[in-house]
Amino acid sequence: MMSLRRVAIYGGTFDPVHKGHVEVARRVLELFELDEVVFVPACVPPHKRSVCISSAFHRLAMLALATQDDALLRISTVELDEPERPYAVDTVARMQHEIGADSRLFFMIGADSWSEITTWHEWQRLLKMCDLIVITRPGYELSGNLAAQAAQVVDVRGMSRQKISELLGSDSGPREFLTDAAMVDVSATRIRATVQSNDWVMLNDMVPAPVASYIEKYELYKK
Ligand code: ATP
Repeated sequence: MMSLRRVAIYGGTFDPVHKGHVEVARRVLELFELDEVVFVPACVPPHKRSVCISSAFHRLAMLALATQDDALLRISTVELDEPERPYAVDTVARMQHEIGADSRLFFMIGADSWSEITTWHEWQRLLKMCDLIVITRPGYELSGNLAAQAAQVVDVRGMSRQKISELLGSDSGPREFLTDAAMVDVSATRIRATVQSNDWVMLNDMVPAPVASYIEKYELYKK
């Protein structure tokens, strides 16, 4: 049987992309033997912004800088190109159509997003469309929620690559894999606060060097 290419979608605001995102992508890529992780920056229309969010242009530029040396980390502008279709279900459908039936899609989210997944548009349909990879995040519980009751959750924390490979190979419908592949205590909120306090040393700890330079150069997060 021909083996399917494995592609994971990593959606988010990425304002800015940080070392947590990059580490998560690299580790999940390795552990789940993926062919590619595709970062999908969200389109956040001005009327939906509760806080000031950087332009799509800046967020995309920082993603490009953060992923430029990793051949298997890519970016898609699918959500930026079609702002009227902002939902994960639409993104997965469009990307499955684009990459074709010889690829298997995964959707990556952090534990914080998983805990609120039942607020997502058509979340039940999303769980049926592709596998989810839910990544632990310091400060957030990977506790069961309503979605977990409806879903086929597989806890792969502490599991070897080989064991995960066997699980992925088994014939089954879409599942939700809970992984502790990466535990990086960084958030974009903390990064924005760090810039406000002019702590450039700390900023460099939290984002890749070219992203730190970009933030400084274009004076992001100052206001
Ligand atoms: P903010 O602090 O502005 O909410 P964020 O750091 O959570 O931002 P997002 O762009 O909102 O970053 O995150 C995109 C995706 O990455 C989400 O699914 C989120 O759960 C996940 N994520 C972000 N940071 C981490 C981290 N340190 N570890 C694991 N997952 C993360």
